[in-house]
Order: sequence, then C-alpha cells, then structure tokens
Amino acid sequence: MIDTAHFQTQNDSSTERLLAEIAQFSVKSDHDGCFPEQEFALLRNSGLLTITLPDHAFSFDQSQTSDLLQLLKSVGRASLPVGRIYEGHINALYLIFLFGNEAQKQHWNNDADENLFGVWNTQDAAGVEIHDLGNGRYRLSGCKTFCSGAGWIGRPLVTGKLISPDKTGWQMCIIPTEKVQAIQADSSFWKPLGMKASASFRMDFTGIEIEEADLLGAPDDYYRQPYFGAGALRFAAVQLGGAEAILEETHRFLKEVNRTDDPFQSTRMAEITHLIETGNLWLNQAGANHDKWAGTPDATEKLLAYANMTRTVIEDICLRAMQLAERSVGSRGLMRPGVLERVHRDLTTYLRQPAPDAALMSVGKYVLNQQNTRTLWD
Ligand SMILES: Cc1cc2nc3c(=O)[nH]c(=O)nc-3n(C[C@H](O)[C@H](O)[C@H](O)COP(=O)(O)OP(=O)(O)OC[C@H]3O[C@@H](n4cnc5c(N)ncnc54)[C@H](O)[C@@H]3O)c2cc1C
Repeated sequence: MIDTAHFQTQNDSSTERLLAEIAQFSVKSDHDGCFPEQEFALLRNSGLLTITLPDHAFSFDQSQTSDLLQLLKSVGRASLPVGRIYEGHINALYLIFLFGNEAQKQHWNNDADENLFGVWNTQDAAGVEIHDLGNGRYRLSGCKTFCSGAGWIGRPLVTGKLISPDKTGWQMCIIPTEKVQAIQADSSFWKPLGMKASASFRMDFTGIEIEEADLLGAPDDYYRQPYFGAGALRFAAVQLGGAEAILEETHRFLKEVNRTDDPFQSTRMAEITHLIETGNLWLNQAGANHDKWAGTPDATEKLLAYANMTRTVIEDICLRAMQLAERSVGSRGLMRPGVLERVHRDLTTYLRQPAPDAALMSVGKYVLNQQNTRTLWD
C-alpha cells in the first residue's frame, strides 16, 4: 500500500515498484479484447483510485493540478492503456466534485474504490438520448463509441441528449451497472493499431432505465468551461508518459547494443531528452496556471488557450520523440516483444484526440483578440 496521504510520484520506492509491476503486466495485456485487470487490481490496492477524494493527497479542493498531472504521466509511462482508463476514472470523479449534490458526492465517492468510473461522451450518428418517462425515471437509447474500459467500468458517466418537457440539453448520468439491464458491448468496434488493452468498445444503452438521482448536474454542465477544455491537460499528461517510456527504452537499447559512443546517437538522445524536459516544463506551468486561473471567470479564455497550447506542444513532442527513437534503434529495436514496438503503437493511437485543428486555431484566435502580446500569460 502506498502512503497516499503523503503521495510522491517521483523518487518514492513504493510508487516506483507499483509502476514497474504495471509496466510488466502491460506486456501481457496487449491484445484485442483484453482489459488490464491485474494492473487495476494493483492501482486499487495502492489507494490511487481514491487519491482525489476529500482528505486524500490530491483532493480536488486542494488545487494540486501539477502533482495530479505528474501522477497521470507516471501511470501513462508504465502503460498507456492503463493511463487512459485511469484518466477517465479521475475525470468522472472531477465531474462529480464539480457538479454533484452533497448526497451524490457521498454516494459516488464511496463507490470509487470498488468501482471504476469512466467518461463516455464520443458517439457517431446513433448517439445517446435520455428520455424523461415522468415520475423521476429516464430511459436511454442509442450508442457511444470509444468507451474505454467497456463492461469493466462499474460506474460509466454517459452523456446524451435529454428529451423532456421540462428541460433540454446535453445531460450527464452515471449508470449503476449492477442495478440495470446489461449494457450491450460491441468489441468488434475496437480493432486499433495500438491501445488494445484500453478496451474502448462501442456500447449500446438502448432500454437502460435510470432514476433522477443518477443524473449528474444540469443539462450542458458537461461542456462548462474552463473545465471541459482544460481536461486536455490530463490526456496530454498521459501522452507525455508514453514519450518518457520511449526515452527510457531507447536509452536502454543503445546501451545494450553498445552504441553510445556514436555522435549521431548522442545528438538524437539529446534531442529526445530536451523534448521530454520541454513537455514537463509545459505540464508543470499549465498545472500552476490552472490552479491560479480556474476560479477566475475573467481568466477562462486564457486558461483554455494555455491548455490548448500545452496539448498541441505535447502532441508534437511525442511525435518527434517517436521519430527520433525509431532512427536511433532501427528496425531491430522495433520488433515484438520489445517495449518500443508496443509503446510506439499505443502512443500513435492515443495521440489522436478530439479536434486538434480547432484547438490550435483557438489559440491563434485568443492571441489575435488581445490588445498586445506583452502580457499574454500574466
Ligand atoms: C485509445 C482511445 C480511447 C478513447 N476513449 C474514450 C472514452 O473513454 N470516452 C470518450 O468519450 N472518447 C474516447 N476516445 C475518443 C477520443 O476522445 C476522440 O473523440 C477520438 O479519438 C477522435 O477521433 P478521431 O481522431 O477519429 O477524430 P476526428 O474528429 O475525426 O479528427 C480527425 C481529424 O479530422 C479533423 N476534423 C475534425 N472535425 C472535422 C470537420 N468537421 N471537418 C474537417 N476536419 C475535421 C481533426 O482536427 C483531425 O485532424 C478515445 C480515443 C482513443 C484513441
């Protein structure tokens, strides 16, 4: 058990041991249809599933975003699929912290150790509708795509179009899976290049009935800013963890094959290292800015621009680090069961996140809307 009250992501031997074990298991979890069960048993035993709850080390009311981002990065370094699912769990707990009433917070926070949470928002044309049946009951119809964790998630936070005479909008609900009919999972949706063990299936909610107390927040709270846009920092943190794994493995490989004296290899090692360090500086600064600006409505646009810059830079860092690593290790270093082969596939897949073009464009728009460029991030 990790001392989560005084949690340290770096230089803590019990955390390092936990992450090493997760990394070991992730080799076996890399196949279609798999969910990383042993990895999550380890996370549960370590106390990390509840670390953001009140009175825990990274309690959301303590504003420790940089530390939380570093934790997400470390889990991503051990395993990107585990990092992805863990990030969804943390995201759901954050939405409960932001929008839950007191009774809901108590109820769902109590569930967070036993149950994994996830946030399933992405959908195609056959998306989710939440029909108000009256008498405080609601019936769901339609599907979500990319549902990380699929049937292993006991408390999926699902969004959908609310159809009700009283209110409309994009509504969140949390499904108590043991109390409702089974959510139909379509694993054939998930035949990806990488991130196989994230089990991001298509899920069909048609016929599921829930109660008023299962609805989280008001319609459209899900997209409330800066919370929605700044969430990009969390996936960027997990992605940077993947790039750190690539640095670590490239370093190990070059030493193993005795190719450390070559000036080209040294130069590439320098480039990968400064890219990763740049990513960490961005992550830490973005975390600090988040805590400074999140409670200030005037700073919402600034915070969103900073989060969008961070995710864009980290995407670029990851892509460039992968390319440099490929050149360094050659085809020999990219073969199964080598770590690089898997992390390369996982990171390539996980870098595809929503609206990258729009994110970059919004930064440019924000800057052009300012009177001058001297005090952009004051
Ligand atoms: C491993 C993994 C796990 C995931 N887990 C979850 C999950 O648990 N829950 C969840 O809700 N989602 C999840 N997702 C989905 C994720 O959040 C994104 O929605 C998804 O990855 C985006 O897919 P895409 O790259 O095909 O997007 P697209 O939106 O199709 O983007 C592809 C490209 O098209 C551009 N583009 C976008 N819209 C337009 C347009 N209208 N016209 C022209 N160009 C456009 C984009 O900028 C980008 O360059 C997951 C994704 C992955 C990869």
